[in-house]
Amino acid sequence: KMFNEIQELKGNIRVYCRIRPFLSGKKEKQSIVKLIGENDLVVANPSKEGKDALRSFKFNKVFGSATTQAEVYSDIQSFIRSVLDGYNVCIFAYGQTGSGKTYTMTGPNGATSETIGVNYRALNDLFKIATSRESLIDYEIGVQMVEIYNEQVRDLLITDGSPKRLGILTRPQPKGLAVPDASLFPVKSPSDVIKLMDIGLKNRAIGATAMNERSSRSHSVVSIHIRGKDLKTGSTMVGNLHLVDLAGSERVDRSEVTGDRLKEAQHINRSLSALGDVIFALSQKSPHVPYRNSKLTQLLQTSLGDQAKTLMFVQINSDVSSYSETLSTLKFAERVS
Ligand code: ADP
Ligand code: MG
Repeated sequence: KMFNEIQELKGNIRVYCRIRPFLSGKKEKQSIVKLIGENDLVVANPSKEGKDALRSFKFNKVFGSATTQAEVYSDIQSFIRSVLDGYNVCIFAYGQTGSGKTYTMTGPNGATSETIGVNYRALNDLFKIATSRESLIDYEIGVQMVEIYNEQVRDLLITDGSPKRLGILTRPQPKGLAVPDASLFPVKSPSDVIKLMDIGLKNRAIGATAMNERSSRSHSVVSIHIRGKDLKTGSTMVGNLHLVDLAGSERVDRSEVTGDRLKEAQHINRSLSALGDVIFALSQKSPHVPYRNSKLTQLLQTSLGDQAKTLMFVQINSDVSSYSETLSTLKFAERVS
């Protein structure tokens, strides 16, 4: 409790680590990661022995591989609900391709009500609260969904024609939309949410077949924009929730890729380090926060900072072959937490 309160003062940044379970066949006991309580984990370097092999990390929370989607959501629920009180909130999933970012944020392919991810749960939850308060506050909920690929912003909610490149406002209003030209869909029920997500996921998949698994090399951002009007006093409030499935953080071997693939890798590297720099600057209460260094941080500018709340899911794999990516993911997370 104490720890969370201290973090709260440190720029409202929380870092939650989630360990992906082994998929079919492998045994969890071959894991290179060990949990110690709720906040700590130890990683073992497979090429060293004894104490020298171990390195420990501390986070606001560590979710073991058996943690369910419902358990993850219940831990972040109050954080998400604060959007209805007028906060701007950002939730990221960071990690190498295959570490469970999309699983956490959206769910697996063909998700059931048990395996749906944060995106659906958050929207449904916000509806539930909005409905329960409807005699007091009139809420309007709108959703945008964009993808950032090679530092270009693309609308994922377009249903006809090919998506155009979108601009980001350099000076967005603190509570306004950063990408005003992206489609903004009003949502009034959980089934509207499912329809929207389907359009977004389909548009993301179209890019994927054309460009070979592009989804792991772009950032996708679901932005939920909420306006509330107090029916008694007439006062209004606005809150924004951004749910971000980041591009894979894996290092690409420069000697092995060229052309488009190299360009993609450089854009990803740059934007993820720009994000790390922004969160680091915020956690240090630095007077200068370098938002302008990437499209992603520019887009999220008004939702990353003193008046906003940030949560990062750091996704890791715990098999031996992922050791170096897991370590570099944890180091990234350690720097921003
Ligand atoms: P990423 O988006 O980081 O590339 P995915 O979310 O696609 O990774 O996860 C890779 C694979 O692992 C998928 O098949 C996904 O369904 C599965 N997976 C990830 N996390 C979990 C989990 N917590 N429980 C069960 N399966 C998971
Ligand atoms: Mg993914």
